[in-house]
Amino acid sequence: MKDLKKDKIRIIPLGGFDKIGMNMTLIESEDSIIAIDCGASFPPSNMPGVDALIPDISYIKENKERFKGIILTHGHEDHIGALPYILLDVKAPVYGTPLTIALVEEKLKTFGIKNIKTRAITLGKTIVVGDFKIEFIRAIHSIPDSAMLAIYTSAGILFHTGDFKIDLSPVLGKNSDLSRLSTLGEKGVLAVLSDSTNAMRDGFSETEQFVNSNLDKLFSINSQKRIIIVSFASNMSRVQEILNLGKKYNRKVVLDGNVMMSIFKASVDLGYIQVDEDILVEMSDINKYKDNEIVILTTGSHGDSLQCISGIASGERSDINIKDNDVVLFSSVPIYGNASDFNIILSRLEEHGAIVEFQDIHATGHACAGEIKLLYSTLKPKFVIPAHGEYRFRREAKRIAKEVGIKSENIFLINNGDILELGADSCRISGKLSLEVVLIDGYEKREIDVNVIKDREKLSQSGVVVIEMCIDKKTGRYASKLNITSRGFVDEHSNKDLFEGLTKVVLQELSRYVNQGVKGERVNKGICRKAEWYIETVSGKKPIVIANITEVMV
Ligand SMILES: [Zn+2]
Ligand SMILES: [Zn+2]
Repeated sequence: MKDLKKDKIRIIPLGGFDKIGMNMTLIESEDSIIAIDCGASFPPSNMPGVDALIPDISYIKENKERFKGIILTHGHEDHIGALPYILLDVKAPVYGTPLTIALVEEKLKTFGIKNIKTRAITLGKTIVVGDFKIEFIRAIHSIPDSAMLAIYTSAGILFHTGDFKIDLSPVLGKNSDLSRLSTLGEKGVLAVLSDSTNAMRDGFSETEQFVNSNLDKLFSINSQKRIIIVSFASNMSRVQEILNLGKKYNRKVVLDGNVMMSIFKASVDLGYIQVDEDILVEMSDINKYKDNEIVILTTGSHGDSLQCISGIASGERSDINIKDNDVVLFSSVPIYGNASDFNIILSRLEEHGAIVEFQDIHATGHACAGEIKLLYSTLKPKFVIPAHGEYRFRREAKRIAKEVGIKSENIFLINNGDILELGADSCRISGKLSLEVVLIDGYEKREIDVNVIKDREKLSQSGVVVIEMCIDKKTGRYASKLNITSRGFVDEHSNKDLFEGLTKVVLQELSRYVNQGVKGERVNKGICRKAEWYIETVSGKKPIVIANITEVMV
């Protein structure tokens, strides 16, 4: 790519600009490249065995000597999930706030990755990485220790919001640092990359205090019932509220979910959560307590609050069953896309006699339109680049930016791979990287070829057909019977005609090859193609066909 001038920088998103998830954006100067975040996203259901999608980092690999480090805004999977895979290829230092770094270190330990430099940066501090100075600014979001970043570059100040909201009455931690935003706004901000997740929601997001007082009411109304709460694993505010309410209403608290437990432990170690040790009890001990003496907080894996409650509702758990004196409070939203799972869980809970509540007991972690407007009007950036969201969310953020007086031509709706070049007075798309989808196999914990997934999908839909035969190497005559077997395709007994027809077609094709002297891999390929054509014509199905025509010495 053409060299950059000293007073120019580039912004290149590698992920996060098409859908929620997989956030990673490169900032490039003449001598340095840094990445902001390194997230994974969850695969769609038609990718069997795929654990995660991660950004394509070919550009970093090509420019390894200039790559100076990865800066993390917070510890959610869509911001840190790709780290263990990417750090296998690029041994770069990783910077983030103390909780984020604690979560990263645990992740690296699980993957057995060593020799990575990690540095915990306290909010309010500024670090130097390559050509850039980076200031960590306090943000409030649904996990503690979230940061917004002011990145000081030769072209001007870039402001990256990470994931943020504005909460004037938070329960845990403090509001996003608005006074720092306004100071930076006075200094002059070149461009802002902003969280667009909730741009389509008018007004302001609910405050955590509102959630807290509604939960309090429900504890009071249901004073004789057993209370089960469903929440997100990383939402430590909610955990703190439940601990406080447990104390207030003399209930012991059970925390259920491995991901939540590890984030909880790190948060307690860092002093972000206050807990009396004797309030926590194990799930295996719940029967020692009366219904009105216990509250159970269940979660799931990253981004999925329903995992534990789903197991409980379907009776898979040996340690807890739903009964008719239970009230289940959904203090979360089902993640995008699994609304039908949510409905199944609801009806199972109700069939077992539980009362279910989900009104006004969850607050989003992302800024709504009013907050985004406040951000733009405080920072007064020259250029706006809406980030973190699908096109329609970012288009809405563009509308908001125009409302506060930012010129339409200064607002950029870019895509993953677009190269945005900025100077003190200029911003334009100067090129595009072509990015591949990178899939991670859940079992191998490594990159996997997209064709393997296509095969798995085919296998799961139409099965496999294997065609085997031995041919005399010397004479080219058949040295064994033709053997056709299948798995997961169709019942061989009730589809005799199909298999007989296939046998005939394969033998005809084989004898053609023998007569023409065609040998080796070409025979296998030719047989596969012919068999695939025949099977699709007769049955309409597209199984994987494997041909094994082996030459033997008789
Ligand atoms: Zn987040
Ligand atoms: Zn996010």
